[in-house]
Amino acid sequence: MKSDYPLLKQIYDFEAFEKQGKDLVAQLTKHLKNAQHPDSRANNWLNPKEELFFWQNYQFQNLPSFVDDLLNHSIHLHNPKYMGHQVSVPTPLSALMNLVSGLLNNGMAVYEMGQAATAIERVVVELFCQTVGYDENANGVMTSGGTLANLTALLAARQAMPDEDVWQNGSQQKLAVLVSDQAHYSIDRAARVMGLGNDGVVLVPTKKDFSMDVKALKKSYHETIDAGFKVIAVVGSACSTATGIYDDLVAIGSFCQLHKLWFHVDGAHGGAAVFSAQYKPLLKGLERADSVIIDTHKMMMTPALSTVVVFKDKNKGNQTFHQKAQYLFEDNSIEEQWYNGGLRTFECTKFMMCLKFYVLWKTFGIEAFEENIDCLYGLGITFAEMIKQNKEYELALEPQTNIVCFRYLKKGFDEQQLNDLNKTIRQKLLQNSEFYIVQTVLNGKTFLRVTLMNPFTTREHLEKLLSIIPDFGLY
Ligand SMILES: *Cc1c(COP(=O)(O)O)cnc(C)c1O
Repeated sequence: MKSDYPLLKQIYDFEAFEKQGKDLVAQLTKHLKNAQHPDSRANNWLNPKEELFFWQNYQFQNLPSFVDDLLNHSIHLHNPKYMGHQVSVPTPLSALMNLVSGLLNNGMAVYEMGQAATAIERVVVELFCQTVGYDENANGVMTSGGTLANLTALLAARQAMPDEDVWQNGSQQKLAVLVSDQAHYSIDRAARVMGLGNDGVVLVPTKKDFSMDVKALKKSYHETIDAGFKVIAVVGSACSTATGIYDDLVAIGSFCQLHKLWFHVDGAHGGAAVFSAQYKPLLKGLERADSVIIDTHKMMMTPALSTVVVFKDKNKGNQTFHQKAQYLFEDNSIEEQWYNGGLRTFECTKFMMCLKFYVLWKTFGIEAFEENIDCLYGLGITFAEMIKQNKEYELALEPQTNIVCFRYLKKGFDEQQLNDLNKTIRQKLLQNSEFYIVQTVLNGKTFLRVTLMNPFTTREHLEKLLSIIPDFGLY
């Protein structure tokens, strides 16, 4: 490097990297250890204005003090009192792979820009195809998150329609997607991105247990086609986000087969249960789906973002982004060019996301993922039992997963007062920051909601949560 750019020489100094890296790992290790301490807090709440003020006036000194401040101002997923949103508690090993990916920065759009990662991704995708129950005609890709994965699958579904080439010609007909009213908002968003508009997202009512009402699906379908729409796909949630309930994939699959409709399964959270002998029955019928997405950064212990999209028929998956970009790819025989990732993903440059799953798999075996599901789903059932035995609380519904919805009750309170009370409790818990839980609204009632993501959460932590909530319920 030319000596008249001294700063660059310093910036890229690998000896400094070694020292900083060692210190940083030591600092993060201490953080992981602290997170297990009984007096630890899951969070350190500041409102957005206060947080912005802090960073606008921040005096950056050095990396260790910055990382300390960052840790103090971030939510701690490794804390067993973290029970909030459905993001995994990442394994340190997978986090190290994020570092490797960051440093190598192999963009993977074309094979040469990520030889190893391209082949490793294929190995990972093949594992998912087999586990889902597909045959050798299946294939898939990894992409940046469930939201993008759902969009990718729905684009494939639209491209697979026999008498319509929207990619080439734009939409000639009114198109629609059918999905339950409990589905994750990313389906709605994907459909709108695809130009389907408000009427193109048909919400199928759910049953009392919050799974899709398949009888209502029939009705919704006929109403939709009678109104002049062509249905691109039916989406099953496995599981849905608010309640963690699985749709009946066998019934939806049969319906799709009968009407020759693309069947997509949004398994961002609960698709991972296919790796567990005990919980796999919740996904009965999964192998009938034309496409399935599973986040590894939710129930599979890797950091975000990392999502697998699999297609039962690889040719259909391959056609999703069928456009000509001659300067990048040798020709358009996509089928032959599985190794040029950019042909089949929304991203051009992407993260080497396969590494964090692959290394975990190869180091600890496939059982690691089963153990995580069994542990966390089991914890959900344990917590539900505890709530049912406690007269101060009401369980919203029997959980199927690690997502549990419940509310605190107070004698003489009407529904409105109970809603206000539970909202207040959740807000006070947030401000207190020892525990982190969230809330949801089901049939107009506000419930507290936990997602038990942390395998170190014990019965004792859950008991403590239930014992402190009444203190926050005092006006
Ligand atoms: C989390 C979730 C998504 C979105 O996935 P991201 O990885 O957060 O983009 C989609 N669908 C369901 C059912 C989810 O739980």
